[in-house]
Amino acid sequence: MTGITKAPSSSAPIRSSLIQQLLEQQLEDLRDCREGEVADYIPELAKANPEDFGIVLATADGRVYAVGDWEKTFTIQSISKPFMYGLALSLLSPSFMEKKVGVEPSGDAFNAISLDPRTGIPRNPMINAGAIATAAQVWRHDPGRAEALTLEFFSTLAGRPLAVNESVYESERASGHRNRAISHLLRNAAVIEEEPEPGLDLYFRQCSIGVTCRDLAVMAATLACQGRNPLTQDEPLNPAITTRMLAVMGSCGMYDYAGQWLYDVGMPAKSGVGGGVLAVVPGRLGIAVYSPRLDAFGNSVRGIATCRRLSQALELHLFDQTPLQQSPVRSTYKGTERRSRRWRSTAEAEVIDPLRSQIKVLHAQGVLDFAALENVLGSIEQAATDGAVIILDLGQVSELPAASKALLQRQAELLQTAGKQLLLCRSSHLELPAALSRKKFTYASLDLALEAAEDLLLEISCGEESAGEGSAGEGSAALAAPQKGTPTDVGLLGLLAPLAADLREAITERLELRQYAAGTLVMGRQQESDQLFLVASGRFSIFLPILRPEAPSRLARMATFSEGMVFGDAAFFSGELRMADVVADTDGSCWLLQRSAFEELQEDNPAAAIALLTQLAIDLGRKVALCGQQLTLVEDL
Ligand code: GLU
Repeated sequence: MTGITKAPSSSAPIRSSLIQQLLEQQLEDLRDCREGEVADYIPELAKANPEDFGIVLATADGRVYAVGDWEKTFTIQSISKPFMYGLALSLLSPSFMEKKVGVEPSGDAFNAISLDPRTGIPRNPMINAGAIATAAQVWRHDPGRAEALTLEFFSTLAGRPLAVNESVYESERASGHRNRAISHLLRNAAVIEEEPEPGLDLYFRQCSIGVTCRDLAVMAATLACQGRNPLTQDEPLNPAITTRMLAVMGSCGMYDYAGQWLYDVGMPAKSGVGGGVLAVVPGRLGIAVYSPRLDAFGNSVRGIATCRRLSQALELHLFDQTPLQQSPVRSTYKGTERRSRRWRSTAEAEVIDPLRSQIKVLHAQGVLDFAALENVLGSIEQAATDGAVIILDLGQVSELPAASKALLQRQAELLQTAGKQLLLCRSSHLELPAALSRKKFTYASLDLALEAAEDLLLEISCGEESAGEGSAGEGSAALAAPQKGTPTDVGLLGLLAPLAADLREAITERLELRQYAAGTLVMGRQQESDQLFLVASGRFSIFLPILRPEAPSRLARMATFSEGMVFGDAAFFSGELRMADVVADTDGSCWLLQRSAFEELQEDNPAAAIALLTQLAIDLGRKVALCGQQLTLVEDL
């Protein structure tokens, strides 16, 4: 796994006792505030204990802080309105609902018996007229199951089964003459198409759903998470509908106090005459307060005070956004500073090395929302001015919203038209669309992306033919190598080439050719090391285990060798057990020198043995230099 490490979902969330104390302090500070009156226009509501006071904060990553009377059940009342509106939007579509209920704040009382004179429909779904019209549409959508659908939906939002408080419902129904008048007005204006009573009844029942302060906080956190319940991971709402709900809550959620609320507290919110207040910090958290004494607007007095204090103390105001602090591009460098672990033949290196500065590597980090991506795109363009292949490492990017994915894809296309390439790596956790995650464009590691970039440089300068051998899965090109060639064939390979003909012959006649199919384990860790391998054709990768204290060790590619290169030499000479696995990446072949054959050579032709050792020493020296270079990069990780 790359990039972000998440705690396993089964483990209990870690909570800060400091935040718990902070909420307890709020409770303490506001407990003496006894302003306001418990609602009594619905007789059952008058039974609430005015002293009840609970505060709950639920975070977008599933932590819940609850203080005071957070377990007390009360009725949701008007806080049901934005949720019912969300249900209607989901079931019937926003375009349909826009014809039934507007989204403009109203200057009238929440229970005004009036419609918008301009449109002939209720002004918004947060006043009773709009909420009754909304409930009527949900009822009409599925008369037989409307209540069950509603309860199921609210329960999923809260993450536990909720039920209607029958006595409050009866009380509402018996005393709800004003709401009944509104429903008839709606029927008269054809906003409601059938008999108004069933829709009105659903409205009374939705208002009478019993909730705790904790339920409301989880429902708020679900809105903060674009409709995904952060505790259960259920998704009762989609992000687009959640955005609409929050918008209406932002402008109309707090009765006639909505403007002042947005000014002071700056969170989409909704309150209800049952004493609940629910507020959302989008993307971050949900807050719920329960305290039944209401002010003249119908909002919980302590609820408002708590939210105002928390907003100030924790800087939660929606319009108080800190500008981008951390650069979304963590580091940038050229291909000269870091190369792939594919070891190149001298011929390939001669082509690639002078061009390495045309490879640019960008490491991005954090959430790449529009503002951050704009910065990344600028860096990509800058890199492309004198670069041919740009590698964007997304391993430390925690989020790439859909709009950013689309922009990134467009950027890749633009670069391609200009004859340049954008390669992505370490992006599997971001669920990229097919166009961005296709082969030869997205790589599992930076190492593989660097190798691809080097191959692209080869293509650019030599044409596709010479780079063919380098591309994964195209190993068959390498099969042109000798199948059962005479030892002299090998004399031209790599380290033997510089030797005098007679010495070379003495060595090569002691070599034997082995064929390997792609995927074969050529040698394994902990094995005896009795052979030395000289690659005749194909590609062979060396893998070493990386030991990780908290995770299973994983194999990392240390190097990939091709024609003319030697492996197995370190253990061959030290006599130790093998340290690494070597796997054939493609079909290929190697010339093998057995230890016994080498010992014979030492006896029969010491000059040839010394010549061979000298060449191997030079080769080993080069490897040590390259390993040193790779080690310096570890500092960077
Ligand atoms: N059921 C209540 C009513 O219709 C809800 C009012 C409210 O919470 O604002 O009057």
